[in-house]
Amino acid sequence: MSENLRICRRCLLTESGREDIMRDIEQRIAKLSPDEKSPAELYGGRLEICRQCDFLENGTCLKCGCYPQFRAAFIKNKCPVKRW
Ligand code: SF4
Repeated sequence: MSENLRICRRCLLTESGREDIMRDIEQRIAKLSPDEKSPAELYGGRLEICRQCDFLENGTCLKCGCYPQFRAAFIKNKCPVKRW
């Protein structure tokens, strides 16, 4: 493993130095219809739960392999271990 590779537990993409991926996700979220998109309060609440979760590492959910900042943006989506 490279010495430069930093493992950031409980970090979302915006905190783990992967802003390029987050920019792409933000563009995709912006294209969701109001019916598909989580309201801001729901979205923020979901991400706060992820921040406390041991499965979150470098902005990725180790339980399902998704980026929670994208997954949580869809109102119909659920956490794979039912935390939200
Ligand atoms: S989606 Fe669920 S399992 Fe994955 S990091 Fe968030 S709270 Fe944890």
